[in-house]
Amino acid sequence: MTDRKTQLAANLAQVENRIAAACLAAGRKREEVTLIVVTKTYPASDVRLLAELGVRHVAENRDQDAAPKAAACSDLPLTWHFVGQLQTNKVRSVVGYADLVQSVDRSRLVTALSKGAVQAGREVGCLVQVALDAEAGGRGERGGVAPAGIEELGDLIANAPGLRLDGLMTVAPLIGEYAGRQHAAFERLMVLSTDLRRAHPAATMVSAGMSADLEQAVAAGATHVRVGSAVLGVRPRLG
Ligand SMILES: *Cc1c(COP(=O)(O)O)cnc(C)c1O
Repeated sequence: MTDRKTQLAANLAQVENRIAAACLAAGRKREEVTLIVVTKTYPASDVRLLAELGVRHVAENRDQDAAPKAAACSDLPLTWHFVGQLQTNKVRSVVGYADLVQSVDRSRLVTALSKGAVQAGREVGCLVQVALDAEAGGRGERGGVAPAGIEELGDLIANAPGLRLDGLMTVAPLIGEYAGRQHAAFERLMVLSTDLRRAHPAATMVSAGMSADLEQAVAAGATHVRVGSAVLGVRPRLG
C-alpha cells in the first residue's frame, strides 16, 4: 500500500493523460479543458493533498459536507463549485464558500442565490443545469431544466444582482433518447451553448463529462470536466 498522496498523484496523472489524449484526438488545446475534481464524500485532508498536487478546482454536491470542508480548506488557492441539487434553505450557506453554482435549474433558486450573494457581498458564477431527458417545462430526475427553459433562466441569472451567468452544465441522462449516448448528449449541449452565447457571449463554460465519459465530453467541446471516482476512488454508496 502506498500512502494517500502517492495514490492521488498516480490517479491524477492517469486522468491528466486521459484528458490530454482526448484533447489531442479532438484537435483541441489542453488548456481549453479545465479539470474539476469532485471531492464529495472524501475528507478535507484529501482536498488539501489535491491542492498540494496542483488541483485548483474542486466540486461538492451536499452543503452539509461541503460547508465544513470548505471552511477547513479556506487557506488553499481553490475555486469551489457546487454541483448538487440545491434547496433554497441551503443557499445562504452555499454562497458563503461556492465560487460557482453549476446546478441552477429554477427561477426560485435564482432569486434565492441572488439575495444570498448580495447579502454575503459576493459574486457567484452560475451555470444553468440542463436536463436533456426532461420534457419541455419540466425538470430532470437528477435536477436540471429542460432545454426549452434555458433562455428564460439564463436571462434571469444575467439580470440578477450578485450573480454572473457563466454557461451550461449537464449530467449525461440515464433514461430517454440519450441513454447510453453520451457523445450525442454532449453535442446537443454544445448546440444549446451556442444558442445561449448569442444572447450572452460571456457564458462560455460548458461543464460536462465525469469519470466514465470525460473523453466524449472533451470530443464534443466541453470546457470543464467533473471527475470524482477516477481521482479519489470509488465512493461508498451514500454519496
Ligand atoms: C459525483 C458527480 C460527478 C463525478 O462523478 P464520478 O463518476 O465520480 O467522476 C460529476 N458531476 C456531478 C454532478 C456529480 O454529482
